[in-house]
Amino acid sequence: MLQLYIPLHFLGFIYREIRHSLADMEKMFTLLEVNTEVSDKPNAPELVVKNSAVRFDHVSFGYDANRQILFDVSFDIPPGHTVAVVGSSGAGKSTLSRLLFRFYDVNQGKVMIDGQDIRDVTQKSMRASIGIVPQDTVLFNDSIYYNIAYGRPDATEEEIYQAAKYAHIHGFIETLPDKYETIVGERGLKLSGGEKQRVAIARTILKNPPILIFDEATSALDSKSEKAIQAELKLIAQNRTTLVIAHRLSTVVDANQILVMDHGRIIERGTHRELLDKGETYAQMWALQQQEEEIKKPLYAS
Ligand code: ATP
Repeated sequence: MLQLYIPLHFLGFIYREIRHSLADMEKMFTLLEVNTEVSDKPNAPELVVKNSAVRFDHVSFGYDANRQILFDVSFDIPPGHTVAVVGSSGAGKSTLSRLLFRFYDVNQGKVMIDGQDIRDVTQKSMRASIGIVPQDTVLFNDSIYYNIAYGRPDATEEEIYQAAKYAHIHGFIETLPDKYETIVGERGLKLSGGEKQRVAIARTILKNPPILIFDEATSALDSKSEKAIQAELKLIAQNRTTLVIAHRLSTVVDANQILVMDHGRIIERGTHRELLDKGETYAQMWALQQQEEEIKKPLYAS
């Protein structure tokens, strides 16, 4: 029996190694795809995180030299505050989140965390302090357990279940045929946009970063999932410096500050109340969205 056990055990080990290195390769390519743009300076120090204040200081940027996307963008996110960005499609909202995670370097100006230009510190230390819940979470072709644990590979089983419970995905996982061992991703069980975003939320809860970027899914979720995700966002944004890229205005009502973007520029800023009182672009967007919601309401709901 032992004779059979050892080779099988070894095969299991090899399988796990290959499986994990495939996932790591996938991760590497995902990072390389966007990451060849930036590099650490020689002997760059680590980011020193004090209270996680974020600053965009006169930032201009274009993905290529002949098309500028952001024009002189400046804003602050004080420690623990939430700043939400709204605006028309293509205005440059998600680009802000890519610059804060340093997928690309700015062309002019600076992005700073606690007074340090993010180009001057190691990418590794900087990214360790930021959690991203992206629009469309890429899942590894692996178990849902692995996909959550990826937020902090040394997390215990109990911590993973706890994170999944906070992200309101534990109950759903328990209904799957192989529960946490169910394979997800392109070649496994396909999860809906909302479910994938919850996996990303669980990962982020595990990682427990002081800075959070939440890029709301563009694709419409049903209103129940949307409300649930918004409640979860509120939960994880608590006491973290948070940048929310919002595609629905209902997400931003409670933000400490809202930035309204148009063609790469901030054209208005303030709280929901202040912007409504101002009666300009944001107020018009809000009125339009309210009208659309009225139209969508079923007759019997009134
Ligand atoms: P949406 O609300 O539709 O998500 P957005 O305001 O988040 O839009 P961005 O994703 O920031 O807009 O894109 C801003 C502009 O930059 C768009 O015109 C887009 O085509 C362009 N862009 C985005 N990513 C790239 C890229 N990798 N290479 C070149 N151009 C890009």
